[in-house]
Amino acid sequence: MNLKENDTIRSAVSRLDFRTQAFIDGKFVDAASGKSFVTENPATGKPLTEIAACDKEDVDRAVKAARSAFEKGSWSKMSPADRKIVLFKFAGLLETHADELALLECLEAGKPIQDCSTIDIPETVNCIRWHAEAIDKLYDHVSPTSSDTLALILREPIGVVGAVIPWNFPALMAAWKIGPALAAGNSVLLKPSELSSLSVLRMAELSAEAGVPQGVFNVLPGLGETAGQAIGMHMDINMLAFTGSPEVGRLCLSYAAKSNLKRIALECGGKSPQVVMADAPEIDIVAENVLIGAFWNMGENCSCGSRLIVHESLKDPLLDRLIELCKEWPVGDPLNPETKVGSLIEKAHMEKVLGYIEAGISEGAQLLLGGRRVLVETGGYFIEPTIFDKVNKNMKIAREEIFGPVLSVITFTSEDQAISIANDSNYGLAASVYTQDVNSAFRISRALKAGTVSVNCFSEGDMTTPFGGYKESGFFGRDKSIWAHEQYTQLKTIWMQLD
Ligand code: NDP
Repeated sequence: MNLKENDTIRSAVSRLDFRTQAFIDGKFVDAASGKSFVTENPATGKPLTEIAACDKEDVDRAVKAARSAFEKGSWSKMSPADRKIVLFKFAGLLETHADELALLECLEAGKPIQDCSTIDIPETVNCIRWHAEAIDKLYDHVSPTSSDTLALILREPIGVVGAVIPWNFPALMAAWKIGPALAAGNSVLLKPSELSSLSVLRMAELSAEAGVPQGVFNVLPGLGETAGQAIGMHMDINMLAFTGSPEVGRLCLSYAAKSNLKRIALECGGKSPQVVMADAPEIDIVAENVLIGAFWNMGENCSCGSRLIVHESLKDPLLDRLIELCKEWPVGDPLNPETKVGSLIEKAHMEKVLGYIEAGISEGAQLLLGGRRVLVETGGYFIEPTIFDKVNKNMKIAREEIFGPVLSVITFTSEDQAISIANDSNYGLAASVYTQDVNSAFRISRALKAGTVSVNCFSEGDMTTPFGGYKESGFFGRDKSIWAHEQYTQLKTIWMQLD
C-alpha cells in the first residue's frame, strides 16, 4: 500500500478489521465479566469500537497460562537459536502488516500517519529483530575459582513478566518490553493503555502466527486501576515493567511492596532541556532539531525537549527561525500524509495542556506562538505548536511535564548557569546540547543529569543504546540494547565441588 496517497489511505481504513478481545493463552477471548470499554478516534472525537475490559479474573487466567507455558518450557527452555527463528518470523509478519499497524495507531492515538509508517512501525520491527538477533550471541560466565571447584554464573529468564505501557507509542513501547523479555525466554502479560490497544492486540495475533507458543504472550486490554493494578498486585508475576507517569510509577513500587516484591522497572517521563551554547552550529540545524525535540508526536513524548535553554546572544535569531519552521509543520488530520502535528490523545489531556498554557500566561511568560485549540469543527483535540518566551525556571510550564506541543524558552549567560538551570528538575530522562567545541560538548554532557544526552541533535540514540532516566524519570529501567536483556533475566550461581 502507498501510505503517501490520501485516497489509498481512506480505502484502507474502511477495510480495517479491529481485534477487540483480550488475547489470552493463544486465543482471542471476551473479558470474564463480559464488560467492554469504548475507544475513540481523538481526531474526530467519535467512537471507533468497543474493547474487552479485563479485570482481576482475566489477569488470573492469563497468569496461569503464562506460568504453565513457562514451567513446561515450550518457550523458556527452547534453545536461543530456535527462539531467534520464531522472533524473526514475528518481526517479518509485523513488517508485512506494517501499513495496517500504522493505520491502527494513527486512528486510535491521533499520530500522523507519516510518523506511524516511517518511524513507529519500522522501529517496532527493528526492535524485535535486534533482540532476536542478540539472543544466541550472549555468553554466560565461569568464575575464576580454585581448580577443585567450578562456579558458573548464569542468566536465567525471570519467569512471568507483566508490562504496562502508555498510549503515546503503543506498538513501539510494546516492542521495547516484549523484545528483550521474550528473547530472554520469559512469558509476558502486557496491558496497553485503554486509549490505544488496537495495534498491540494485532501484534499478539501475529506473534502466535509466527510460532510464539500458547500462553507465552498475552495482551490484556483494560483500565489501569483494574487490569493494571491486578497485574501489579499479582502474587505469581515476577516482574513489572512500566512506562507512564511518575504517579502510577510510584503505585507500581507500592504494588511490589504489598505483594510478592516483584522486580520493578519504571520509565516515567521527563522535562528535557535543550541547551544551546553561544558557539552552537548553524542556527538552521539547531532550529530544526529543537523543533523536532519539542513538537514531534505533538510533544506527547517522554523525552520531549520542552525546555529550550539558550544563550542570550542566540535567542532572537533562533526564535525567529523556529517560528518560520513551525509554518512547515501543519496541524491537521492525522490520516493526511502532509500532517506533521496530529491530535492529542483525548479531550481530558487536551484540556490539561490548555490549562498549562493558561498557567504560563498567568505566571507572566510571553506567549510568542500558538496557544490555541484549533480545528474545533473536526471534533478532534488539536493544539497548535506553542512557544513561550521569558520563562522563569520556577514557573509551572518550566517544571512540570506538559506532554503537549508547548516549548518554554529560558536564557542564560554562562555555562555554569546553563547547567544549573538544565539540572534544576525532578526529571532526568534526556537532554541535548548544541556547541561546536568538543571540549565543552563533553564537559556539559557529563554535567547534565540525564540518562541520554545528545550533542548537536535531538536523539534518543538507536537500538544499540540503552534508554532510561536519572532521578524521577526512572527506577532501574533501561529499554533497548543489551542492557534491556539483563533486566529481564536473573543471575544464578552454580558452585560445584570437584574431586
Ligand atoms: P499513566 O501513568 O496514567 O498510564 C500509563 C499506563 O499505566 C497505562 O496503561 C495506564 O492504563 C496504566 N495505569 C493507570 N493507572 C494505573 C494503576 N492505578 N495501576 C496500574 N496501572 C495503571 O499515564 P497516562 O497515560 O494517563 O498519561 C498521564 C501522564 O503520564 C502524561 O501526561 C505524561 O506526563 C505521563 N506519561 C509519560 C509517558 C512516558 O513515556 N514516560 C507515557 C505516557 C504518559 P490506562 O491508560 O488504561 O489508564
